[in-house]
Amino acid sequence: MAKEPMLKFVDVARDMPAKRMPDLRRQDFDEIYSEYATEKAAEQASRCSQCGVPYCQSHCPLHNNIPDWLRLTAQGRLREAYDISQATNTFPEICGRICPQDRLCEGNCVIEQSGHGTVTIGSVEKYITDTAFEEGWVQPIRPHAERGESVGIIGAGPGGLAAADLLRRQGIQVTVYDRYDRAGGLLTYGIPGFKLEKDIVMKRIDQLTDGGVEFVMNCDVGVDLTFDAIRGKHDAVLIATGVYDSRELQAPGSGSEGVVRAIDYLTASNRKSFGDEVPEFDSGELDAEGKRVVVIGGGDTAMDCVRTAIRQGAESVKCLYRRDRANMPGSQREVQNAEEEGVEFVWLSAPKGFDSNDDGVTGVIVQKMRLGAPDATGRQTPEIIHDADYLEEADLVIKALGFSPEALPTLWDVPELEVTRWGTIMADFKTHATNLEGVYACGDIQRGASLVVWAIRDGREAAEAMITYLSENVSVAAE
Ligand SMILES: Cc1cc2nc3c(=O)[nH]c(=O)nc-3n(C[C@H](O)[C@H](O)[C@H](O)COP(=O)(O)OP(=O)(O)OC[C@H]3O[C@@H](n4cnc5c(N)ncnc54)[C@H](O)[C@@H]3O)c2cc1C
Ligand code: SF4
Repeated sequence: MAKEPMLKFVDVARDMPAKRMPDLRRQDFDEIYSEYATEKAAEQASRCSQCGVPYCQSHCPLHNNIPDWLRLTAQGRLREAYDISQATNTFPEICGRICPQDRLCEGNCVIEQSGHGTVTIGSVEKYITDTAFEEGWVQPIRPHAERGESVGIIGAGPGGLAAADLLRRQGIQVTVYDRYDRAGGLLTYGIPGFKLEKDIVMKRIDQLTDGGVEFVMNCDVGVDLTFDAIRGKHDAVLIATGVYDSRELQAPGSGSEGVVRAIDYLTASNRKSFGDEVPEFDSGELDAEGKRVVVIGGGDTAMDCVRTAIRQGAESVKCLYRRDRANMPGSQREVQNAEEEGVEFVWLSAPKGFDSNDDGVTGVIVQKMRLGAPDATGRQTPEIIHDADYLEEADLVIKALGFSPEALPTLWDVPELEVTRWGTIMADFKTHATNLEGVYACGDIQRGASLVVWAIRDGREAAEAMITYLSENVSVAAE
């Protein structure tokens, strides 16, 4: 029997995989953390206390069986660790890289609570599946038998892809429609390579294509193909379109040239990483090189923008946020990474307007703020400090204020599709069924801007519900 090497958290300190030096990181879009060596992964996994009630597991949206795969990794039984890890997570190597672990699994690790530093769960999860790919253990999608029913999925982000994977493994015919030219959604065009290298995502797309999932790209549903046509073609439909309506600033001058939306800026940069021609980047409009850049916002999108601007060779990069460091929504780990790379944070500051000349924006008029009384949610409300405005000079201003859903019932001409007062699709949170027969919704378009791991969970749950629906209501023999 394999020896039990666990509970080492008192003797072995928490140790993340090596992080590249900021000077090197600034020069490329490669990931900043290296991979654990085998011994290191085993050592770090052995710190797990195997506690009776694993809070890490209950705070992981996928309820990953974390203590078991940590124990198997510590014992060197990596193949089994991989089998357990992939049973609950469609893309463990992606979650291991980009989940905000400090708010999920690791933030609830019992040894962290006792002051020993959390087990590096995300890094071990990434290591297990990266190794599985290298060793050829990742299973291709080969259904035992083909089924005749077909599902149309609108949106090739993590939600849609997680559903496609499960449906296809059951032999169901799956077609994924997306308006972009590449699949992956925000994994491909939103999140920069320094958090998630693109070949990691493309490997999964290849796996799905090889397993028989059909991708119809450059297909903007509502423009190139009607929603009704998709419903007519398939026995069930999953809407997994994410949220793409950028929140706007209502401030004088916000329409000036050089004041751009985060999603356009990040998409252009990610496209360049693929080697694409991007006219808006090549013209300089969406390129930060040599510019004084100001990013407005305090979430993960803002963090991705500031760090992208650094890598593009900006002269200076500042992040304006109206609350303080302790109250920002973005991950503290990302703030630290950004600071190491040379980003300056300007806390308690909000844009009041923009100065510009014939060439475009020249600066942001900044209003200073203080934190007032807590609102109904308990968060302190920012209040303006009068007569403290100043001009922050800038040649490129990036608005990263969050995203709202597009008005799908109108855009798709399906007024009967029920949405919430926020515009997200109203669907059951377990089955993901909408009010339309055979139509399901998952990911950000159902829950609002959220996380990759939640989109994966939703996609998996929606797929399970659709399989039941198809079996009970449709059942078509394969040709
Ligand atoms: C810049 C940025 C950084 C982020 N960083 C992180 C992070 O580090 N960690 C994390 O967990 N989460 C992060 N998130 C959030 C995460 O990316 C999303 O929660 C997740 O991608 C949602 O998945 P989804 O499948 O619902 O939608 P998406 O990933 O948005 O995919 C939706 C897909 O639907 C397609 N689509 C939309 N409308 C149509 C249409 N009409 N016709 C056809 N196709 C359509 C889109 O082209 C897209 O490919 C980040 C988000 C952003 C914007
Ligand atoms: S999926 Fe995310 S939350 Fe769950 S164990 Fe992995 S890193 Fe943690």
